[in-house]
Amino acid sequence: EMCIRDRYIAVGAGVLMPWVGSALDVFVQPFASVNLAPLSFVMTGLVMGWGLFHYRLLDLVPVARATLVDRMADGMLVVDASGRIVDMNPAFGRIVGIPESGAVGRSAAEVLSPWQSIVETYGGVSEAQAEIKVGREEREHVYDLSISSLSGTGRSEGGRLVVLRDITMRVRAERELRAANENLSRNIAEISALRDRLKEESIRDPLTRLYNRRFLDEYMDREFTRADRIGTPVSVVILDIDFFKRYNDEYGHLAGDAMLESLGNLLSKSIRGGDMAFRYGGEEFVLVFTAMPLAGALTRTDELRIAFDSFRLPYEGRVLRASLSAGIAVYPLHGETRDEVLRAADAALYRAKVQGRNRVVAFSANPDREL
Ligand code: GH3
Ligand code: MG
Ligand code: MG
Repeated sequence: EMCIRDRYIAVGAGVLMPWVGSALDVFVQPFASVNLAPLSFVMTGLVMGWGLFHYRLLDLVPVARATLVDRMADGMLVVDASGRIVDMNPAFGRIVGIPESGAVGRSAAEVLSPWQSIVETYGGVSEAQAEIKVGREEREHVYDLSISSLSGTGRSEGGRLVVLRDITMRVRAERELRAANENLSRNIAEISALRDRLKEESIRDPLTRLYNRRFLDEYMDREFTRADRIGTPVSVVILDIDFFKRYNDEYGHLAGDAMLESLGNLLSKSIRGGDMAFRYGGEEFVLVFTAMPLAGALTRTDELRIAFDSFRLPYEGRVLRASLSAGIAVYPLHGETRDEVLRAADAALYRAKVQGRNRVVAFSANPDREL
């Protein structure tokens, strides 16, 4: 306000001076040899000029707006067409780290030397919107840089307005959020992998790594349902090691375990597309052959029996061997439910034992007549 009143006084004084000078000249003529009228014009010029430079008389920006620009947190810089600084607010000076005073009128490239690389990038750009990073690591600051051309504001060839907004906190918060999200999805992946593994563990037998009886129930139900739909038979085999009690007594329980493990490996190795092997109980195993009629199952199982019979297990300086017997039943031929089919296969296995072991026998409704 003071500033504006002072401007009026300066202008008023400047305007009045020639009038006063001329009036004195015409009516009073205080100094005969001095012509006051031209002198007063010189005075006007001096007063006006002083006002112009001291109060920026022609600066038409309202005071309130000037204050706002001075106090705002965003850095603001106005550069003219030739790259000279026309205006710069204190925030801009603080951000770039240059003294605000004396910047106006100087070359922007020179004043902004602390930000040389950024000046090089955006020096000739008239419109830009970018995120720029200044400083390293802990002291890094991120700014939203906006450059807009002022040529649209009336002057045909205008300068540029540069605004810098500090978005460090926002960027940091976003970065932390992203890191937290990545961490979370990593944890979720770990948990679901763990859950899959637990599920896998819960359906596997630890000694032979074959599936266990719990999964057999689920698997047979599923395969029988599918067999119903497409009309193919499912062959179910129960295998049992011969005279295993005796084997254990002779060689020890650990040697028994080693033999069970070996049979597990043999079964895993010979499994094909539609086959599954399970450890049913102690030294009993179940094979499920999907979409396989009895003849095929007999052949496959007898191959396994022969392979196991010729297998030799080196164990603590000895070479151990065993044999197995197997019974086969077919769904839906020999039973309509899981239990019926398993019972039929077990009955066939019993026949195999009775007939002398180390053999494969198919279920028969009248086994005695066969003999
Ligand atoms: P058979 O020819 O009639 O089958 O005679 P077997 O002696 O094998 O009789 P059975 O099948 O009833 O015997 C099961 C034996 O298998 C009992 C036990 O000593 C042994 N066994 C069961 N589970 C394990 C196991 O996990 N490890 C070991 N080492 N032995 C087992
Ligand atoms: Mg047994
Ligand atoms: Mg046995």
